[in-house]
Amino acid sequence: MDYQQLIEEVYHQVQEENLKGKVADYIPEIATVDPNQFGIALIDLKGNVYGVGDHNVPFSIQSISKVHTLTMVFNVFNSKLWSRVNVEPSGDPFNSIAQLEYEKGIPRNPFINAGALVITDALCSKFESPVDQIIEFINELVGDTCVKINTHVKKSELNHGERNTALAYFLKSFKNFNNPIDQVLEVYFSHCAMEMSCVDLAKSFSYLANNGYSIFANRQILSESSARRINALMLTCGFYDEAGEFAYKVGLPGKSGVGGGVAAVMPHKFSIAVWSPELNEKGNSVKSIRALELLTDKLAFSLF
Ligand code: GLU
Repeated sequence: MDYQQLIEEVYHQVQEENLKGKVADYIPEIATVDPNQFGIALIDLKGNVYGVGDHNVPFSIQSISKVHTLTMVFNVFNSKLWSRVNVEPSGDPFNSIAQLEYEKGIPRNPFINAGALVITDALCSKFESPVDQIIEFINELVGDTCVKINTHVKKSELNHGERNTALAYFLKSFKNFNNPIDQVLEVYFSHCAMEMSCVDLAKSFSYLANNGYSIFANRQILSESSARRINALMLTCGFYDEAGEFAYKVGLPGKSGVGGGVAAVMPHKFSIAVWSPELNEKGNSVKSIRALELLTDKLAFSLF
């Protein structure tokens, strides 16, 4: 398979379709990004890098970081964690408050905001300086010091964080939150405001395509079965309430973020990151989703 040719074909086809969406503006700083950027990076299991378009431009990875933070607490909390967060698709918007209320403070999954706040709370219980540890962990996965926090985006989120703050208070009222709310929100907004390029992001997901082993970190990050579970969660819950449609059209485990990025894996073959800022009404990048749909159509192999 000539991956470079494949992603170039996909890239040009998507550009010709001239798809339009809307840059997320509920975090004002994110809305300042140039909406026409578009990049794809694919990493095979030998570590070969294939890229096209704006694949080296750092962007706000937002919710994609929830996969990294989940990985960090997966081993330590394992069974305890799954009494605090469920593993079901939400079918509701990612920042829904109503669902958390009628499900008595147990979020549907670790990738909606309420679930990710529980994960970040668990991280705060485990690590002395969680933000440093998250950055260190992702840099290790990439094999380079590439992760930066965009402080303007972080401040912008803090200043417009009413819904996430409300979710944290709800969780606390159901006794599903152990650390001070301000501290956890600060860590949460910091990891959402991390910036990485498609190349580095695809590298950081490589262990999920490789039975939990990272060739860049040179170590087993998660056991094979834990890595499989994270992939199952990404397949069923990784795309807000469009997860079913993404599984149907693309059929890869992945995670999107409101910065317009999508990171996904083809287990035993490759990891891939695609980025373009304009989103559809569900909050997923229009061009990134289309690119992955075309890519999997053109592949000779599939997950199913
Ligand atoms: N920081 C964003 C929020 O909490 C993340 C949203 C996303 O990418 O899904 O609203």
